Amino acid sequence: MLADSINKIIAKNHNTISHASNSKYKCTKCSDTGFIKTERGFARCSCYEEDYIKRLWENFGVNPEDVKLLKDYEPYNDVTKRAKHQAAEYITNFNELNKGTNLVLMGQAGGGKTHIILAIGKALLERKMKVLYMPYLEAIRELKANAMDDEYYNKLINRYKMAEVLIIDDLFKDKVKKGRLTAELTEADMRHIYPILNYRYSNKLPTLISTECTPQMLIELDEALAGRILERCGKSYGIEFNNQCNYRLRQFI
Ligand SMILES: [Zn+2]
Repeated sequence: MLADSINKIIAKNHNTISHASNSKYKCTKCSDTGFIKTERGFARCSCYEEDYIKRLWENFGVNPEDVKLLKDYEPYNDVTKRAKHQAAEYITNFNELNKGTNLVLMGQAGGGKTHIILAIGKALLERKMKVLYMPYLEAIRELKANAMDDEYYNKLINRYKMAEVLIIDDLFKDKVKKGRLTAELTEADMRHIYPILNYRYSNKLPTLISTECTPQMLIELDEALAGRILERCGKSYGIEFNNQCNYRLRQFI
């Protein structure tokens, strides 16, 4: 029955399409029905999942369409030039990289680290990769708040664990202030973040990370976790912004 009614909707929309221009639909593959006809019956159109991923970004207040491109990032010293260059290379070579290669931007606040990792995410989204956005504090808060509801919790955490590409923005934000560690990782913190990073490490899934922590600070917080994050950057994709990278500040000097 369901198949019948879907069939009708699709037929109706396809008829309309032949009379009107294709641009009437956001998705010309399914005429915005979300379903396509295959030999074995109906299947979800790829636009369905793309929309779903977009909604997950929007839940955290970011519309991927509004994310600034990498070409709009203006480097202002050697480190930021290198960061931009490596980011471009990461996008270009993504399919040839070792499986699960991370790109991690560390250190000094205000250097545009978030701009760069979101721009990479956007570029990969446009290549139809399933890229998930995880602003660390908000996402961990949501996980902690739902820890008692097993079913929902697993659904939430599995998204981050299994995403084809995961962006973790401002990792350990609540542990750093003005370039210093202000708190330790608690058992509760670890219960939520460790399974995500560990799963991605073990399954060689790529993660893009921005953090105000330096590599030394990551090690101080948790050596095993830092090892898992940094090991997968190789020589090229772990970049520490130093204290000459504070663009916001630099404007006033
Ligand atoms: Zn579609």
